[in-house]
Amino acid sequence: MKKIFHFDSPADPYIADAALLCCFDHRINRAVRKFMKKQGIERPDLIIVAGGAKTLASPRNDFEQDFILEQVRMSIRLHQTKRVIVMSHSDCAT
Ligand SMILES: [Zn+2]
Repeated sequence: MKKIFHFDSPADPYIADAALLCCFDHRINRAVRKFMKKQGIERPDLIIVAGGAKTLASPRNDFEQDFILEQVRMSIRLHQTKRVIVMSHSDCAT
């Protein structure tokens, strides 16, 4: 395997400001970043999947909803997350 990039991430544990569920659609990246900045969210646990909040409201299968909820539980367990934000957007292909 060829190494193409090296980055040392901080090893210190952290408390997440929020777990944020959003769509993977590139068109909303800037809006999501601006929203987080405006809300003072500096250390989010990002859960980025096709459809974002739609995966909880209208899951395509039994696995999808369980997977997302487990990600939220892990954020709470590992990073003491107190706030969960679910986002959807217009013109979502899902
Ligand atoms: Zn979308």
